[in-house]
Amino acid sequence: MKRILMIVIALFLCCVYAMAYTVVIDPGHGGRDVGAVGRVSREKDINLKVALALGRLIKKNYPGIKVVYTRSKDAFVGLDRRAAIANKAKADLFISIHTNSTAAGRKGTTAQGTETYTLGMHRAADNLAVAKRENSVITLETDYKKTYEGFDPSSSESYIIFELMQDQYMASSVDFARMVQRQFAVTAKRVNKGVHQAGFLVLREVSMPSVLIELGFINNRKEEKYLASEWGQKQLAKSIYNAFEAYYRKK
Ligand SMILES: [Zn+2]
Repeated sequence: MKRILMIVIALFLCCVYAMAYTVVIDPGHGGRDVGAVGRVSREKDINLKVALALGRLIKKNYPGIKVVYTRSKDAFVGLDRRAAIANKAKADLFISIHTNSTAAGRKGTTAQGTETYTLGMHRAADNLAVAKRENSVITLETDYKKTYEGFDPSSSESYIIFELMQDQYMASSVDFARMVQRQFAVTAKRVNKGVHQAGFLVLREVSMPSVLIELGFINNRKEEKYLASEWGQKQLAKSIYNAFEAYYRKK
């Protein structure tokens, strides 16, 4: 009798664990892929710091929630691998964290503020430019044309396919994206550049609500100072956490 009871309890605990809400946090770039570069900082480092801080906040306040990182150190991870990690974890939410830059590169820009993207085709040239830049990392992977079924990150035609793809998670993704942008404005007092849609490969591959966050412009001198500072990174992580909490509680 005791043994049967033990088995029942074990099965119950397994079910509870399997049903645990799972968040996948995806710090963009890493390893040989440094991402955008500023005067004093690199995108891959900022993304990782904010991602880890966000994960710590979730774990501290909701120990029952499972937090999975696509990378937790400075390592190169392909976009398809990142998506595979999220799909394998059967995640409920995918949060990709990036830092923005303009074509001006290290010469600098006056552009500033945060943006949050969800998957979707958008004809706006600006959105396409951001997606192209973030997707171009796949060219660092061998066999990228095979892995992504002939997808060419620099060709506009490649993005038309996104239009044809139904995104069943669109409503939830947009919902969360709006909360993130609101919190960036309220909690971190950042300039709000809004919620947009674009063809991000990493979002295309995941089967769950997903967003891609651009924390700010690394090639804006003033904003870079904030992005590279511990204080700034803490505030940005706190903002995303607040949005997550609001989203999670609404479910
Ligand atoms: Zn990036």
